Amino acid sequence: MIESRNPYNDEVLEKFEELSKSEIDQKLEKAEKRFKTWRDVPFKEKKELMLKAAAELKKNKQEYAKDMSLEMGKPIKQALSEVEKCAWACEYYAENAEKHLSKKTIETDADKSFVSYEPLGVVLAIMPWNYPYWQVFRFAAPALMAGNIGVLKHASNVMRCANNIQKIFERAGFPEGCFQNLVIGSSKVEDVIRDKRVKAVTLTGSKPAGAAVASVAGEEIKKSVLELGGSNALVIFENANIEESVKTCVMARYQNTGQSCIAGKRLLLQDSIADEFMEKFEKQVRELKSGDPLDEDTFIGPLARVDLAEDLEKQIRESVKQGARILLGGKRDKAYLEPTIVEDVTPEMPMFTEETFGPAIGVTRFKTEEEAVKLVNRSDFGLGVSIFTEDMDLAERIYPKFEDGAVFVNELVKSDPRLPFGGTKISGYGRELSEDGIKEFVNKKTVYFN
Ligand code: NDP
Repeated sequence: MIESRNPYNDEVLEKFEELSKSEIDQKLEKAEKRFKTWRDVPFKEKKELMLKAAAELKKNKQEYAKDMSLEMGKPIKQALSEVEKCAWACEYYAENAEKHLSKKTIETDADKSFVSYEPLGVVLAIMPWNYPYWQVFRFAAPALMAGNIGVLKHASNVMRCANNIQKIFERAGFPEGCFQNLVIGSSKVEDVIRDKRVKAVTLTGSKPAGAAVASVAGEEIKKSVLELGGSNALVIFENANIEESVKTCVMARYQNTGQSCIAGKRLLLQDSIADEFMEKFEKQVRELKSGDPLDEDTFIGPLARVDLAEDLEKQIRESVKQGARILLGGKRDKAYLEPTIVEDVTPEMPMFTEETFGPAIGVTRFKTEEEAVKLVNRSDFGLGVSIFTEDMDLAERIYPKFEDGAVFVNELVKSDPRLPFGGTKISGYGRELSEDGIKEFVNKKTVYFN
């Protein structure tokens, strides 16, 4: 049985029976059969269905958001915003998929030659619990618009959300089998990847999960996209607008109770403004309201599972053992960890080298621009970096030096359907969202007429 448990009060919400081998087989059969007709459905029809999915998300956002808050502890206001953002992704791809995938003519010696973008078939999405709807919709909206079929293996602690997502596509009127949730644990994933009917796989989650999935996909020579963890730096230069950057950095680290791959996890401060920045930053973090995720005023909820809070506590403790200092917070009660600030973090400590998935930030100081670049790039992760400065010459000079998949100036790193999203180094490969995202799971077919 797969179990959903409310991390706020540890109550079991629901149990789900895992699919048997033959049930998985039936679902994959249905998916493959559906692909044979879905691939030829005109964009106009797909667009209408995707807009209906967006409307369904908006109409019943309270219901969908509440299940998210119950299953993984997301404060309800943030849960509602997540559902709305999913509707945005559906609308974006409804409006733009046809343009993204229109034939690209290339002049050659031929009478005509062009690239035709065609769907691959059934794509497996292995998704995490931290944005239980958003992570899935940012895969599903482009995949379905491209003519692919989606099968979902969601994280075991958010199966109610997973079933809701299938329901959203059904309520919108998508033909049966276009998008199915597989109620399975991770031990059953390998067989699904190896199944001939599955053509490609995408995973968002940790490095070990990504490595396991990508190696099976590699053996089967199947396309994979990996969106793994991050340890984004927030770099504050001495000429930054301190008030504004403090506000943005608090959001960058603490929204979603810090459980985001693109959260700012390493705060890098230029010496000359470090004290002033920290005084204001600490004050704002102190004011963040912790509580019941279903309470509208709550900004910080519990972490999604007790083991995740324990892991983070260990990373803090180990860093302190190595010389770091807790400025604020640090105490844990079951799945809840106080909003935490850890100062004097050096590049050898877990707060710097590892992904910290919760409401705790590590602070490191630097003197020069060169030192800042080195500190940012010293991480094995490469998802994104935010720099804060009023000096646009500095921003222009410095952005090419970062190894990450994204550089945001005076803004937190955020996903936007119009922009590509993805990392370098151990943060993964491939891109989601935008035109780049929809083109990950298509056959870029070269056509040559002579
Ligand atoms: P996992 O990476 O283990 O889980 C993500 C998804 O992968 C889930 O659906 C999980 O299924 C599945 N999965 C896990 N292992 C395998 C495997 N060997 N083969 C196939 N599928 C697998 O994340 P955790 O929930 O354990 O979180 C651990 C850490 O991962 C976090 O603390 C954080 O650092 C990072 N993480 C990063 C995320 C991101 O957005 N990049 C999101 C979530 C976590 P199941 O739930 O059944 O195990």
